[in-house]
Amino acid sequence: MPTSAYAMLPEDWSTFCKNAGFPAFRSKQILLGLYKDRIRDWSELTTLPAAMREKLTKDAPLTTLREVTRTPSGTDGVTKFLLEADDGEQIETVWIPADGRVTQCISSQVGCDMHCAFCASGQLGCVRSLSAEEIVAEVMVLAREMGQYPNNIVVMGMGEPFVNYDAVLRALRILNCQQGINIGARHITLSTCGIVPGIQRLAEEGVQFELSVSLHAPNDVLRSQLMPVNRRWNIAALLSACDAYTAATGRIITYEYTLVKHFNDRPTHAAELIRLLRNRKARVNLIPLSPVAEFDGETPSHADCLVFLDALLKAGIHTTMRRSRGKQADAACGQLRLRKVKETENGSQKQ
Ligand code: SAH
Repeated sequence: MPTSAYAMLPEDWSTFCKNAGFPAFRSKQILLGLYKDRIRDWSELTTLPAAMREKLTKDAPLTTLREVTRTPSGTDGVTKFLLEADDGEQIETVWIPADGRVTQCISSQVGCDMHCAFCASGQLGCVRSLSAEEIVAEVMVLAREMGQYPNNIVVMGMGEPFVNYDAVLRALRILNCQQGINIGARHITLSTCGIVPGIQRLAEEGVQFELSVSLHAPNDVLRSQLMPVNRRWNIAALLSACDAYTAATGRIITYEYTLVKHFNDRPTHAAELIRLLRNRKARVNLIPLSPVAEFDGETPSHADCLVFLDALLKAGIHTTMRRSRGKQADAACGQLRLRKVKETENGSQKQ
């Protein structure tokens, strides 16, 4: 059984209370303290006798992440936080207000091993996966800072969630459960670069989380250039797993497609993408490339993005285009951490 407080589901608390000799109703008080009062320390939970607080401090510690820095939120209110775990590793999470609702983008790993060409998170490889309690702590730390929980969660920060499947699923169940943070399953989105066994496993979980798949190219030649994962599971294998997921869950998958100038943004690419998706239950989200120093691709013109969008819409494919937000703030995945790590490395070289 997990020992960290933020890795525990209500049933784990019932067992914990039973084993510790606490009356069953204490479990409810503990959950209220954790997720309604958002206590930082068990000493704050004064509805419990001191001996219980001591036991909890010892046996169910509250994981915390220290704020290292945050980008100043611009006029759009998007704020990116760099948080530090106990071992000094740093991760990013982003607070994104829009139309009166807030989406929080959370990380699942420190870095990433998938090495997608344009993604800053993968430039330095993966240091380690986050634990379930660290993933929940991303939400708790920001909720205390911002005075509210987000309305939506997207697992679109650093890391590949399906490489850290168990911890991610446990964390999402805690975010989702009514006695926890109580964010509806349909307001929680997982995004994968295309780890087929992960998609197959999620189909069998009996959960209603939303699934996004990073497609980014309409054929295997281009996709393998951008995403090494395509050499393991090609587009045909990926789409057939996605079809099976939709058949099993009834959920429609959103395909993410990052537009890179003259690489995958031409009308011929739109036509290829339409052929791939026309007869599928599918949505597409277009993302104009957010420039990163380590990738020499460029962002297409807005006009070219609109032509691509229009072609998909005309073909009857439900398509959206991501608004470019938080640009002033190293908005692309992993950029803030990458910059920090590089600063530190340069700093230590100088010494
Ligand atoms: N590993 C998961 C979660 C990351 S989600 C996945 O690959 O889906 C973040 C999304 O932003 C992914 O679709 C990713 O490919 C995309 N992305 C990363 N860097 C980007 C950049 N520089 N410009 C545009 N999109 C980018």
